[in-house]
Amino acid sequence: MSNHIPRKRFGQNFLQDASVIAGIVHAVNPQPDDIVIEIGPGLGAITKPLLARLKHLHVVEIDRDIIERLKAEHPADKLTIHAGDALAFDFASVSQQPLKIVGNLPYNISTPLLFHLASYGNRVLDMHFMLQKEVIERMVAEPSTADYGRLSVMLQYRFYMENILFVPPEAFWPPPKVDSAVVRMIPAPGRCGVARDEAMLEKLVIQAFAQRRKTLRNNLKGLVDVADLDALGIDPGLRPENLPVEDYVRLANHLSDKGIQS
Ligand code: SAM
Repeated sequence: MSNHIPRKRFGQNFLQDASVIAGIVHAVNPQPDDIVIEIGPGLGAITKPLLARLKHLHVVEIDRDIIERLKAEHPADKLTIHAGDALAFDFASVSQQPLKIVGNLPYNISTPLLFHLASYGNRVLDMHFMLQKEVIERMVAEPSTADYGRLSVMLQYRFYMENILFVPPEAFWPPPKVDSAVVRMIPAPGRCGVARDEAMLEKLVIQAFAQRRKTLRNNLKGLVDVADLDALGIDPGLRPENLPVEDYVRLANHLSDKGIQS
């Protein structure tokens, strides 16, 4: 397929299934003037069909060999290559226009990358990502299910999310050991209320889910009193997974109202 030797440390599993590639491009639905950023273009499985539909494309890539390859294959007026780590990349620096972000993400950094990307919610039109299937199941999980956790709360606070495509290991070269899927994320500010101090919401959610088997009363000790929970009509005997996103937001705002600093 290519003389590039896939690098495990960069999570390199290259898409080779034409129907999956077409499915992703169809879902992204790029229009010629859209500002699109692809994370981890690799050997170009998604990059090339995106370029065929766009006037210009931005990519963020860490692997120097792949960067050289991309430079040789595509003129700079079509493709802007941002060489470096997507975890440290300032996505807002690309354009003032709303962004479409897409990528078959390196699975070894998917959770920190999703948290990094979440902070650009107000600059984004939509995002489409290939991820390990289990990660997407956690992102879209409903309360009171085993998959519902910190990732679900913090991402559902900012986005509507939908699991749109199942992708088996054979769709890649080399095949990963896990199943994959594609998620669509559309910013939805305020859908579960607005946290006046988002750092407080983050702190609260981290502490609440520190031990899934314990009750809110136990996990939130030191930050939230039983009286705070009572005031909001939240049963202190619930487990963290039982609380909907709206209640985490209400609780964070209650703490802010009490003057507690994040
Ligand atoms: N998009 C290609 C495809 O679908 O075949 C490649 C996908 S591969 C799973 C992940 C890509 O992300 C690789 O090109 C890898 O070099 C790149 N990558 C890995 N870590 C990265 C990072 N921290 N920042 C930017 N790109 C990264």
